[in-house]
Amino acid sequence: MKLRFSPYKLKFKHPFGVSSNVRTHTPTVFLSLEIGGFKGYGEACIPAYLGETEEETIAFFNDASATLKKLNSDFNIAETVTVIDGLSETCNAAKAAIDIALHDLKGKILGKNIRQLYDLPVKENSVTSSTIGLDYADKIAQKIIEASDFKILKIKAGSENDKALINMIRSYTDKPLYVDVNQGWKDKHFVVDMLHFMAENNVLLVEQPMPVEMIDEMAWVTERSPVPTIADESVKRLKDISRIKGAFSGINIKLMKCTGISEALRMIDLARESNLKVMLGCMAESSCATTAMAHLAGLADYIDLDAPYLIVNDPFKGISYNNGQICLPHSAGIGLKLLNAEIFS
Ligand code: MG
Repeated sequence: MKLRFSPYKLKFKHPFGVSSNVRTHTPTVFLSLEIGGFKGYGEACIPAYLGETEEETIAFFNDASATLKKLNSDFNIAETVTVIDGLSETCNAAKAAIDIALHDLKGKILGKNIRQLYDLPVKENSVTSSTIGLDYADKIAQKIIEASDFKILKIKAGSENDKALINMIRSYTDKPLYVDVNQGWKDKHFVVDMLHFMAENNVLLVEQPMPVEMIDEMAWVTERSPVPTIADESVKRLKDISRIKGAFSGINIKLMKCTGISEALRMIDLARESNLKVMLGCMAESSCATTAMAHLAGLADYIDLDAPYLIVNDPFKGISYNNGQICLPHSAGIGLKLLNAEIFS
């Protein structure tokens, strides 16, 4: 197996604001694994707040190359990702890139797309939210107009002024909303009051209302919440799910947090056994990782897979959007078309 990688900067349509920072681009590292004329693509998207760097990601690929180079075309994905996972305690995005590329490659070798590889259900009319970052009122109004195709908007919140923010959004649109607080609320009584306000304003779910360490307060809040509370920062991998049981109504699974499709599928199974809702999310990543995750859409309650829509220099074409619904490619593997072959030259 041949391994190539390429660091890249994904540029946003608009600077992207959340409760802690504003960004104009995200560093990512693309990966290509090649065997017998088939190429599988993967991606390690590494926004700074995740704490994973380009150097560590590349060093991890170099460490993993000894294992990967030995593989032949009948490799086993599950066995390979178990070995790869054991190479480091960290580098989840790098692990995800390898897992995604192995799935793309296996699918191409077998002539099956990812949902066919696992015989996953396909839900017609899967609707994704489109994210509106924190911004000035006039910019938010413009972003709402640009997202007019989408049926659900996801709002980044997380301040004392979130009622005013929602009232402002409501002056422009009555679409259902997902609200992502990114750990921004700290007082449990304030949080319960906010969650009731959200429910009255057609907010369908609230993501990560409180800081990760406030797990007992979150359990108290969720018991009193009229809307589902969804863990994002609180749940990265499979092992985190047991810790948050009872504290949230559901989990937001992202490939870059959970090391890839193999573990995402196990997390969905455990969430179902634990009576937790399942949301599929993404970082500000390209069509490569987002399309890989979108193959799992038939298993989810909520889908937030709009990243490629927010990026201007995506080197891949895969997932597309039609009237707020996600449209998946049918070709083998992830089903990507590489638009910019130079990235691996
Ligand atoms: Mg979130």
